[in-house]
Amino acid sequence: MKGFTTKIVHNDRQHAIEHGATHKPIHTSVAFGYADARDLAGVFQGTQPGYTYGRQVNPTVDALEDKVTVMEDGLKTICFSTGMAAIGTTVFALLRPGDHVVCSAFLFGNTNSLMNSFDTQGVDVTFVDATQAQAVADAIMPATKLVFVETIANPRTQVADLEGIGKLCAEHNLVYVVDNTMTSPYLFRSKTVGASLAINSLTKYIGGHGNALGGTVTELGNYDWGSFPNIYDTYQKGDAQFWGITQIRKKGLRDFGAALSPEAAHHIAIGAETLALRMVRQCDNAARIAEFLDKHARVQKVFYPGLADHAEHTRATQLFGSGGAILSFELDPDIDIWRYLNRFNVIINSTNLGDNRTLAIPVAHTIYFEMGAERRKTMGIADSLIRLSVGIEDVDDLIEDLAAAFD
Ligand SMILES: *Cc1c(COP(=O)(O)O)cnc(C)c1O
Repeated sequence: MKGFTTKIVHNDRQHAIEHGATHKPIHTSVAFGYADARDLAGVFQGTQPGYTYGRQVNPTVDALEDKVTVMEDGLKTICFSTGMAAIGTTVFALLRPGDHVVCSAFLFGNTNSLMNSFDTQGVDVTFVDATQAQAVADAIMPATKLVFVETIANPRTQVADLEGIGKLCAEHNLVYVVDNTMTSPYLFRSKTVGASLAINSLTKYIGGHGNALGGTVTELGNYDWGSFPNIYDTYQKGDAQFWGITQIRKKGLRDFGAALSPEAAHHIAIGAETLALRMVRQCDNAARIAEFLDKHARVQKVFYPGLADHAEHTRATQLFGSGGAILSFELDPDIDIWRYLNRFNVIINSTNLGDNRTLAIPVAHTIYFEMGAERRKTMGIADSLIRLSVGIEDVDDLIEDLAAAFD
């Protein structure tokens, strides 16, 4: 079995590429023509491979789908225009009114907001402390169909009990969806904990360069879709392993239309070639920075799973072999957060994460602002909390930037 990077870099050439190109070219054609109209009909009916219309699939996007499938060690991947499109479309395509979902209470802000919208559309949602499998177990009801968690939560870096929840989902025959964005398939394979579907925002580590939005859902082959009651009759054809992902492609991608553009797919595929190299560097940088901040007299708290006193340090080390490359920290209350942030020379005040550049954001005033002060308090989001997405810069420059801003 070849290594992670070897497979990613050479995956496009598993199939013949036009003109011997070494990676998949950008195909911008929206539609695909056939000399024999019966072939067009065959592709439509799924009896032969091929392309029809860009909203469902495109050769450049297809190549990226295969790459992500390889990364996640899955069976099939669908690309979307954004990570949120991947999440929203997946949940929409699989659930019906009256169904119940158990979610982590520490979800990415927009995913939390989205789940609340589903709650107003007839799908019941319960948010629980996903660091404890028992909290998930306590929330399961007869109507529960799906459990949705993230690997490392953002910004407080709680690590879900991914293995424990996987066992529970298997026992109760629940669809187990893991958003792997914060760890990326380089640090973690959702398949190993029994996940049914892996979600990735391609915008973050997989793309890595902050130049394209995208998202994916990957079928991991762990769930028996033959026993899932919400699959439409039309999609109950062939191997049951693919029923779920087919329904997501048809009812989700095709009907909702949040397709990834071929240009974005190209940017992301090129970025993905260096995922492992970047992650190693970013995780090393983050560990060094966490140590520096942890010892600093003007820092109240540091949240980073790589630190020995983090509540899920052992779990993170076992599952990811690293603490990841996102951390957050609370400044001393007498420090003016704006003055602190505005003194950076290298670090950029910006949202986004997984970028090559180190990005800092005052959490309570931005990504968690809409939530309100009360909810922030229950979630442990202090006004002085800064999230840092650590990039690939030379770490001494980053530490100098963080240190100088305290002076
Ligand atoms: C950013 C992010 C998303 C959404 O991805 P977009 O590509 O920005 O839509 C989903 N989940 C997590 C954990 C994220 O960090």
